[in-house]
Order: sequence, then C-alpha cells, then structure tokens
Amino acid sequence: MNYLEKRILEDGIVKPGNVLKVDSFLNHQIDPMVMEEVVNEFLNYFGDRKITKVITIEASGIAPAIMLAAKLKVPMLFAKKTEPSTLKNENRYESEVHSYTKGVTSNVIISKEYLDETDSVLIIDDFLANGQAALGLADIVQQSGAEVAGIGICIEKSFQKGHELIKEAGLDLFSICRIKSLEDGEVQFMEE
Ligand code: 5GP
Repeated sequence: MNYLEKRILEDGIVKPGNVLKVDSFLNHQIDPMVMEEVVNEFLNYFGDRKITKVITIEASGIAPAIMLAAKLKVPMLFAKKTEPSTLKNENRYESEVHSYTKGVTSNVIISKEYLDETDSVLIIDDFLANGQAALGLADIVQQSGAEVAGIGICIEKSFQKGHELIKEAGLDLFSICRIKSLEDGEVQFMEE
C-alpha cells in the first residue's frame, strides 16, 4: 500500500454520490508530505519521458502539478474554468468540461501563447472520475499540435468510466491510487 492510499484510509471521508473528501491533505489543506510522495510516484512512472510542460486544471490539480514541474524543471500551465479579463479577445484553446462534483459544464481555457506543437505535455489531476477534465485537457493539447506524454492522476475512481475512456483514446494513464468501490462508506482499492 502506498503513502497516498494509507492517508486516504486514515483521513478520507466518503460522501454521498460516490465522492471522496480529502480536504484535510489534498483538496483544501495540503500536506507537503503527501505532495512529496505523489511527485515521487509520478517521477517513477514518467521520469524518463520527454516532458516540456506540465498541464492541469484549476484548482485542485495545481498543487501536485507545480511540485512535479519544479522537479522536472519545466513550466506548469493550468486551464482556467472562467474567462479572466486578461484572456478576453486573446487567442486561446478551449474545451468543454462537465464537472462531476459540481454538476456544471464549463469551457476550460488555455492561452495559445503558452502551448504549441513543439511541446510534449504531461497532464496531471487530483481525481479521475468520468474523465471529462483529463480528456478536455488532452483535447486542448491536441488542438495545439503538441504531444500528450501521458496522464498522471493522484486518485482514480476506477468504478467510473474515466479510466476506460482514456485508454480508448490511446493515452498513457498512470494513477497512484485506484479505488474499486466507495460502497457503504468504505474505501476499497483495486488489487495490484
Ligand atoms: P472527471 O472530470 O474525471 O469526471 O472528474 C475529475 C474532477 O472532478 C477532478 O478534477 C476533481 O476535482 C473532481 N472530482 C471527481 N470526483 C471527485 C471525488 O470523489 N472527490 C473529489 N474531492 N473531487 C472529485
């Protein structure tokens, strides 16, 4: 069992609707020890790839993505969920993403200034549920002509369809924790 799995068992709270609350160490208060372990797991898997940029989506992907980007010594770029005034009328990439936890659909935005066909991009996010956030980011990377080097996820809920959709899209997915079930308020991980 890895460190993140241990912390999920100790401090994660299962909420109605198959939602796992990890606000005490990942989504609100952030434990640097957890981040360090998460970064090491991603480096073990993706460390030998050509990566020019780490991309995520605001807000909860930013912490693991910036920590990893610092180790890889490449920039971190995050997609914005609302249109900031600084990106109005600018050239940008957009993709529609439906949020599993919030139940809303939004256009996520990345400026064309920071992504082009010379990039090889690692996509990072905190959770994988139905795959909308990760696939929206992969869509933006592909619009730019850049290559998707892989998708790294901290916590995958393997009973939802994101894993399958990402595999079907031919993308390389690595998830540090794979949750088989949250039934009856209990976290069960996939067997190795
Ligand atoms: P997806 O786009 O794969 O359906 O959902 C992934 C996004 O929804 C993540 O960026 C994450 O913020 C949020 N999310 C999905 N499921 C959960 C969950 O069980 N717990 C928390 N805290 N966030 C979740």
